[in-house]
Amino acid sequence: MRILIVEDERELAASLKHGLTAEGYTVHVAYDGPEGLWQARTSNYDAVILDLMLPGLNGYRLCGQLRREGITTPILVLTAKDGDFDQAEALDTGADDYLAKPFSYLVLVARLRALLRRGSTGAPLQLGAGDLILDPATRTCRRAGTSIALTAREFTLLEVLARRPGETVTKSEILHHAWPEDADNPNLVEARISALRRKVDAPFGRRSVQTVRGSGYRLVDDRELHDP
Ligand code: CA
Repeated sequence: MRILIVEDERELAASLKHGLTAEGYTVHVAYDGPEGLWQARTSNYDAVILDLMLPGLNGYRLCGQLRREGITTPILVLTAKDGDFDQAEALDTGADDYLAKPFSYLVLVARLRALLRRGSTGAPLQLGAGDLILDPATRTCRRAGTSIALTAREFTLLEVLARRPGETVTKSEILHHAWPEDADNPNLVEARISALRRKVDAPFGRRSVQTVRGSGYRLVDDRELHDP
């Protein structure tokens, strides 16, 4: 289990790192907001312990930014501030739990364990079906290791399907997410689904973007499917 600590108080960061390493976690520390954001984005952590008052970029903004990028790593916020407002605000920006300083180390470890347990059922960092992989953090797409260039809209459309692989997503759900400004024009979806298939399926001889007649579309792992 890999843990990122974003904390500018070096003594606290060092003692947390020491304690969590002894518990068997692999621990990295970032000492300011921008470094923390960079680490959380680019490395695959199982959880982030995040201080709120940080140089460069505060914890609220860091957390909000990660969530906007689709990064769902569980986040436990630590802060010297105390009060319902701060707690609500931290949870609003997408943090999963909150602990006010000074805290008991035992409580921290218990909360972290609970987060890690929940985290394993959360959305994965990478989305997709079979060998078609989407990375919401970098908004890139690849099939069997080959990168595929998608427009922003195509990426969003594929992401809507990839968040629920194997499930039928209705046209109106797709419109709602991918064309919020034009949600009553289902022809947009059909045209863009065709364009998407020309990029992610046809060149690979695949049919992973499937039409579900009368309801919508679904993204499947079609590696085991064979044409009759
Ligand atoms: Ca601080």
